[in-house]
Amino acid sequence: MHAGDSTVTLVVRCEQEPCTRRGRVFNEIVVPLGDVELMWEGYGHGAEDVADYCPACGVLGVLSDVLLSSDVPAPEGSSGGGVR
Ligand SMILES: [Zn+2]
Repeated sequence: MHAGDSTVTLVVRCEQEPCTRRGRVFNEIVVPLGDVELMWEGYGHGAEDVADYCPACGVLGVLSDVLLSSDVPAPEGSSGGGVR
C-alpha cells in the first residue's frame, strides 16, 4: 500500500470559557497523513502556528477533530455514513 499524498485536516477550536468564539473552529491545519502524530504531539510545544491562537481571546486553540481531506472512499451505493 502506498500512502501517496494523502493529507489530514486538523481542526483548531477555542475552548476558553469567557471567549466569544468558544466552541467555534477558527483554524484548520492541513498536514501529510504521516505527520499527524507529530503534529498532535508537538502542538503547544512548538508545532503550533500564529493562526492557532484564537483571534478573539489570544489563547492557543485546541485540536479537536481530524478530517481526511483526501483518500475519501467513494460511496458504493449504500448511504448511511458508516465509518470504518
Ligand atoms: Zn477564544
